[in-house]
Amino acid sequence: MPKIPVRVVSWQEIVDWSYGLAERIIDSGYRVDVIIAIARGGLVPSRILADRLGVVDVISLKVEHWVQTASRNPEARIKYPYSVDLSGKNVLIVDDIADTGDSLILAKDYAKRNFNPKEIRTATLQVITQTTKYVPDYYYLEVKDWAWFMYPWNYWEDVINLVKKLKDSGVNIKNLEELKRAYVDSYGSHPPIDLNIIIDEMKRRGEF
Ligand code: AMP
Repeated sequence: MPKIPVRVVSWQEIVDWSYGLAERIIDSGYRVDVIIAIARGGLVPSRILADRLGVVDVISLKVEHWVQTASRNPEARIKYPYSVDLSGKNVLIVDDIADTGDSLILAKDYAKRNFNPKEIRTATLQVITQTTKYVPDYYYLEVKDWAWFMYPWNYWEDVINLVKKLKDSGVNIKNLEELKRAYVDSYGSHPPIDLNIIIDEMKRRGEF
């Protein structure tokens, strides 16, 4: 059975962490003109930061790296490349977490080459110092031991993927009690959505 430490993050934590991150940006004196949200993880934090910092211009870059919960592609890439003129602008690139740091490295390099901004800084809610190759200019929480953070915008996708991992390892997911036991045993936390509801949704999606 897979052993992956999973930590469920609440909506309230996301708001608190985003506000905390905004304070650090304000304290540094950096005046942000444009936020680039890395999709999809940076979308919600970007919107909260934009509100707190008073930033009207929020755009997005779709980076593909971790395609499935706790399983990643070897290489990060920009899925829908485009160019835009940000000359004279102070840019903030935002993501939820820096794990390998590849998404931020790629997005920063891409924005520098294609958007021509005055300055680029980066911000994440969390950084895993043990694993990242790149530490963002601003972050709110430093994570010492690697875990998969189940953010509230990802509950359905993550729980479904984690159930699939159990199925692939031989757990009989038709037996709800066995599934529940195996889930907690493998991931060290309870699912934020009832597993019987998840199974119904997997059936609806044709993934059961
Ligand atoms: P990175 O490895 O820094 O390029 O991470 C890319 C993206 O994958 C992040 O923006 C998250 O959306 C997601 N991700 C990577 N590692 C984790 C993790 N430990 N917990 C939750 N999401 C993660």
